[in-house]
Amino acid sequence: MTTSNGTGAAMADAQAALKRYFGYESFRPGQQQAIEAILSGRDTLAIMPTGAGKSLCYQVPSLLFEGVTLVISPLIALMHDQVAALEAAGVPSAYLNSSLSSDEQRDVMDRVRAGEVVLLYCAPERLSRRDFRDLAASLDIALVAVDEAHCVSQWGHDFRPEYSMIGGFVAGLPRRPRLAAFTATATPRVKDDIVRVLGLRDPQVIQTSFDRPNLWFGTRRMSRSEKDQWIRQYVTGHPDDAGIVYCASRREVDELAESLRAAGTNARGYHAGMDSDTRRRVQEDFVADRVRVIVATNAFGMGIDKPDVRYVIHHNMPGSMEAYYQEAGRAGRDGDPGRCMLLWNDADINLRTRFINQDAAALGVGGGAGGDDGGFGGAGFAEGAGDAGAGGADGAEPGDVNPGGGAESRASQAAPQQFGQQISQQEALIASKRAQLNAMAGYCRTTQCLRAVILRYFGETPASEQCGNCLNCEGTFETIDMTAAAICVMRGVFYTLQNGGFGVGKSKLADMLHGSKSEAIVGSGLAGNKMYGSLSALPIAGIKDLITQMVSEGFLVIAEGRFPVVLFGPRMEETTHRGFRYLVKREASRNLSGGAGRGAGGAAGAGAGNGTYGAGSRGGAGTRADLTFDSTDDAELFDELRRVRTEIAREEGRPPYMVFNDRTLRQMVRDKPTTPDAFLAISGVGERKLEAYGDRFMQAIASFADRS
Ligand code: ADP
Ligand code: MG
Repeated sequence: MTTSNGTGAAMADAQAALKRYFGYESFRPGQQQAIEAILSGRDTLAIMPTGAGKSLCYQVPSLLFEGVTLVISPLIALMHDQVAALEAAGVPSAYLNSSLSSDEQRDVMDRVRAGEVVLLYCAPERLSRRDFRDLAASLDIALVAVDEAHCVSQWGHDFRPEYSMIGGFVAGLPRRPRLAAFTATATPRVKDDIVRVLGLRDPQVIQTSFDRPNLWFGTRRMSRSEKDQWIRQYVTGHPDDAGIVYCASRREVDELAESLRAAGTNARGYHAGMDSDTRRRVQEDFVADRVRVIVATNAFGMGIDKPDVRYVIHHNMPGSMEAYYQEAGRAGRDGDPGRCMLLWNDADINLRTRFINQDAAALGVGGGAGGDDGGFGGAGFAEGAGDAGAGGADGAEPGDVNPGGGAESRASQAAPQQFGQQISQQEALIASKRAQLNAMAGYCRTTQCLRAVILRYFGETPASEQCGNCLNCEGTFETIDMTAAAICVMRGVFYTLQNGGFGVGKSKLADMLHGSKSEAIVGSGLAGNKMYGSLSALPIAGIKDLITQMVSEGFLVIAEGRFPVVLFGPRMEETTHRGFRYLVKREASRNLSGGAGRGAGGAAGAGAGNGTYGAGSRGGAGTRADLTFDSTDDAELFDELRRVRTEIAREEGRPPYMVFNDRTLRQMVRDKPTTPDAFLAISGVGERKLEAYGDRFMQAIASFADRS
């Protein structure tokens, strides 16, 4: 076919542009397909995990087009950094946003009109401005690229109402350009919203695996003070690594940053309560390697393309796996190992449950008979109650779980409340948030391969149930065999579905298994379930936790709806196998064992975890070896090249990673290039950077060789 020939030639050009401007030898998974689709003129939706390299999917095509490529992106800070990085690579680009003076804006618009700009970044708000619409109408726009496209959907985790303007803007252009959307959120509803709201026409959908093999995952249950101590130890033990610590509230950010500074680090806090100048400075210090650790709320991160973040620690549990994976995914973008540790306790879950209950109240979604079925077992426990006070919702950031101000307008726009069987959109939204929280809580508790749990959550079938690169695969925690209890749960569900039964919610199921004599159980006939009272030895909260864990692992599912019910999941069959065993973590089992071992046992668990984590990060897990050198000479050369990089970065007023990232420097240490050809062969070295920086690095390498 002629198109494929045409595309073939175009792909050769794309490959050349990849090396010439960005210095990379080959495309990563998904990039080639996305670029091919865009070059062939099709609308495109690319769904790839954070760190996969979505930006290149529109940046490379933009270099091959006659016209300009318009990039719509939600954050001003992102634009500045991306444009700076593109300029460093020799790609003429610019951005338009409110951080520029009106003179500067006019200047940019003139450059764009004169055809001097390949990539123009702007925020969605800009699309409604008259001057911008006039400019756009006068341009030859080859491609509109929408970054972080999940922002169009309130089903995602970062809804931005302004994103709804994009579709109309594109439709109103004199000639419709190709439209390409990029996101790391893969749920069907978000996908549908993106296609519908942006008005994508018969898009080519490219979806890559969500696996990030270079990331190590771990979860640990700890009290608030254990968390703080653990984080202090980790951060001070890894002084050379860049890292992010996410907290749930502004107060926690301030307190933890202070305690890390007291421990001798130069950690800085970041949250939306700080003025924008301070925030910008903190962010710049971080990308410039002047600050190694940032303690932040979820306000930090989107739009920070710092490739060498070596760890992301969550001080609290986020509200959804989507949010968690996006935040954790900021580690190891350069492809080198990254550690993602999630610390949690019941108070975190209670806080998130409260957010959802507040949302439900704001949207007028009542509790109803099944209303508490999304709730969590930990609610009644002393530890949870104590920490919830400290965590407090006072400074929590809006926009994640809590839809904030947007909620009311959405509620009033929505269809009139339906009575009867149908679920209103608000109810469905709340039910989906509860389901997301459930999955997140299950991830915290599971004893199974964390990568497998993540991938299954995002709709993939994991290649293996043992990735070998997560805490659960390392298996360095104590477990309790709960096989008998798990089978009771499965059978209990079975009997609720027998004889035309529709199933029951999590709370009722737990009450029934525990043998509750409440009217709700006895009156509804659940006392007649063959499994009634079979788990009377466990507290109800513990049974709920067990169900939550089994849901996250795919043995059960909670069907969304006004009355969410527990049904069998895709892996139910495994529970019927002879050798089936079901394990829970001892650290997560305080509820199950009725609170015993809270003191010494808990502390010992935390200590063991520290040891494991430390050992793993010093090469135990294998992958970490990529970060170390064979000889002390090489380690010294690496330091020397970093010094050269810092010097150049300072002269040019750019963050060091925009000169070269750590991975590129590491390859220079290994290959020791001293000729232009050899230097150009290093991944991350393009023509522009060879020309601009090659001599200084090659000189450093040569004189180092002379010395040793
Ligand atoms: P995403 O937007 O998907 O989170 P980015 O576009 O920010 O990811 O890219 C993440 C990192 O991967 C960047 O540092 C980028 O330079 C790097 N990268 C992208 N594509 C490639 C490639 N083909 N080879 C090597 N590195 C790449
Ligand atoms: Mg991106």
